[in-house]
Amino acid sequence: MGEGISKVKLIWQNGDLVPLEKATVNVLTPAVLFGANVFEGLAAYWNAEDQELYGFRFIDHFRRLFDSLKIMRMSVHYTTEDFLSFSKETIRANKFKEDIHLLQVVYVDDIGGLFKQKHLGMYIAAQPHPTLFDVTKGIHCCTSTWTRISDTCSPPRVKAGPNYQNGRLASLEADAKGFDWAVILTSQGKVSEAPGACLFMVRKGLVTTPPITSGILESITRSTLIDLFSKELGMPVYERDIDRTELYVAEEVFLCGSGAEVTPVVSLDRIDIGDGKVGQVTQKIQRLYFDVVRGIHKGYSEWRTPIYNVNR
Ligand code: PMP
Repeated sequence: MGEGISKVKLIWQNGDLVPLEKATVNVLTPAVLFGANVFEGLAAYWNAEDQELYGFRFIDHFRRLFDSLKIMRMSVHYTTEDFLSFSKETIRANKFKEDIHLLQVVYVDDIGGLFKQKHLGMYIAAQPHPTLFDVTKGIHCCTSTWTRISDTCSPPRVKAGPNYQNGRLASLEADAKGFDWAVILTSQGKVSEAPGACLFMVRKGLVTTPPITSGILESITRSTLIDLFSKELGMPVYERDIDRTELYVAEEVFLCGSGAEVTPVVSLDRIDIGDGKVGQVTQKIQRLYFDVVRGIHKGYSEWRTPIYNVNR
């Protein structure tokens, strides 16, 4: 959970707010043994002027959680509104007045029930938003030698813990080779995504991103940027297959996600992207994104949920 862990006081688990050290799962559950879970990672941004914390597109995250649950044949007796109220309760209980990351996990809680799932548990944890990378400088990536999991084996559109082993292999390989992060290709050799973020390139002036059938998680940030590009910058986003070598000759490449936010990629496999500096289009969309999530840009209010309801 990173350095902010000391600020995490209470975790919501199965209807109760419990101290962090009491929020536990039995070692004999499929949750622990097989990583049998699905989850969401959400972000909320503190707006000092409004003295409000804005949850960003929470309902869309909850909808995606329901998709993950459905595909994994897991059913919970909650609604998206329930999820929203549990999330608010968790954040408020910890009194966060800073940018945060929220983890919502549904896990299989049957002791010894290795391949069955009668009992599901759920927990929600709020923690200070981790800084993955310096988004002003950009990062150096390699193309991973690991290929992306696919819909026929471990569907990437399900946000399940076990899917992250694929991204871990790529991240650990990148780290061992001295890179910040990795770009993962599909087994057909097309660009998929980074271990925890989707990818965009600007090539010949066109903003382009791999389609949702390219082994990606259906990222909420990706969809946000597609909207912002077209509505605010007048730039339609093209969704099509991307070759690895297109990234070498692109003007700009950047990654996006609730955790990665908008992270420029300035080189791939030690080949500079463009002039090796953060590009203009990336800077523009990054600024816009931060303004929208924090509520400095007053539009798109339907995307922001006030957590403390200071104006009520
Ligand atoms: N791909 C993967 C594998 C991820 O883990 C994430 C982060 N959740 C993303 C993409 C970006 O998704 P989102 O914008 O919804 O956070």
